[in-house]
Amino acid sequence: MNIHEYQAKELLQSFGVPVPVGGVAFNPTQARQTAEELGGSRWVVKAQIHAGGRGKAGGVRVVDSLDEVKKAAESLIGRRLVTHQTGPEGSLVQRVWVEQASQIQKEFYLGMVIDRGTQRITVIASSEGGMDIEEVARVTPDKIVKEVIDPAIGLRDFQCRKVATAIGLKGKLMPQMVKLMKAIYRCMRDKDALQGEINPLAVVGGGDEARLMVLDAKFVFDDNALYRQKQITEMRDLAEEDPKEVEASSHDLNYIALDGNIGCIVNGAGLAMATLDAISLHGGSPANFLDVGGGASPEKVTNACRIVLEDPNVKCILVNIFAGINRCDWIAKGLIQACESLKIQVPLVVRLAGTNVEEGRKILDESGLAFITAENLDSAAAKAVAIVKG
Ligand code: ADP
Ligand code: MG
Repeated sequence: MNIHEYQAKELLQSFGVPVPVGGVAFNPTQARQTAEELGGSRWVVKAQIHAGGRGKAGGVRVVDSLDEVKKAAESLIGRRLVTHQTGPEGSLVQRVWVEQASQIQKEFYLGMVIDRGTQRITVIASSEGGMDIEEVARVTPDKIVKEVIDPAIGLRDFQCRKVATAIGLKGKLMPQMVKLMKAIYRCMRDKDALQGEINPLAVVGGGDEARLMVLDAKFVFDDNALYRQKQITEMRDLAEEDPKEVEASSHDLNYIALDGNIGCIVNGAGLAMATLDAISLHGGSPANFLDVGGGASPEKVTNACRIVLEDPNVKCILVNIFAGINRCDWIAKGLIQACESLKIQVPLVVRLAGTNVEEGRKILDESGLAFITAENLDSAAAKAVAIVKG
């Protein structure tokens, strides 16, 4: 699960991490008021969407007057912001975060991710933070340092000092960095985060006043841990998620929207992936990933059909069931129910195998509905692709 930058900053602040003072605003008047209350003479108005790359796309505005704060908010709220991470359709901005602008001396990158290889939280840092970090990683990977954290003993001070030294922090900034890194690590561990990214981590203010400040924060949390993370769950912004995916999860269906035109209804994540591969192999393009799970009732199958059909790109549905715990007769009943209640207009290619397959096939045959049946995955995929290409 993703959260907004402002939520991540509030969370980090509660762990003692220095962030700029700011406030969230849902309309331009509120944005102006927030800036006025914050005080100062320079503010940053930042579009809150679950995607990075906002700075380069005009989603981060540094302004010098309260009227400009309002104008910036006006031009952001209610518009779709297209960044290199949103895809061409962009993301609707529904709120902005207004904060005091910092006088930046230098920008660093600091991330913590769970490295699947070592199965440990790994610190990634670079002296070259800011908006071009992807470029740094590609062109000068030696400017990126890594430090693996042992979960049994946690992040040690010496590891923090090692990272700080490697990215060129010294003097008073060194103990600040140790404190900050340990706080971010505690936040990740205690809140079941999969990933925490601070970019930029900035040195702000000059001379003796120089200090570290988190200017942007992106956190991703483990969906499987949300049951024990009430505070995090409450930060969920459903408006940022695909409505089909939200609806699917409420029916206990695992749906992920893709950009092709063959809708897929499959049982089991592995078989669903294999189905996407088979479609691609035959030159087609899947509209979604959908795992109906084990023991799918006719109602669940009907819900699956409805969600798949909410995507206007879908020109054909491919149902691929290899029933173990599932029952092909239930699947068949669900498909007939779906055809009748949803008045499905697109062709349905159905491949059934496993438990009660004979019964399932019989139910489909006797329904009088025009199902296109297939004996195996390969021929089902070929038939679906032929239909959409036809
Ligand atoms: P994104 O990563 O989505 O582009 P950021 O929050 O990192 O958005 O902002 C982009 C850039 O804007 C930062 O690299 C920084 O240079 C500048 N910036 C962000 N917040 C502030 C701030 N409070 N004060 C001054 N500059 C800022
Ligand atoms: Mg950033």
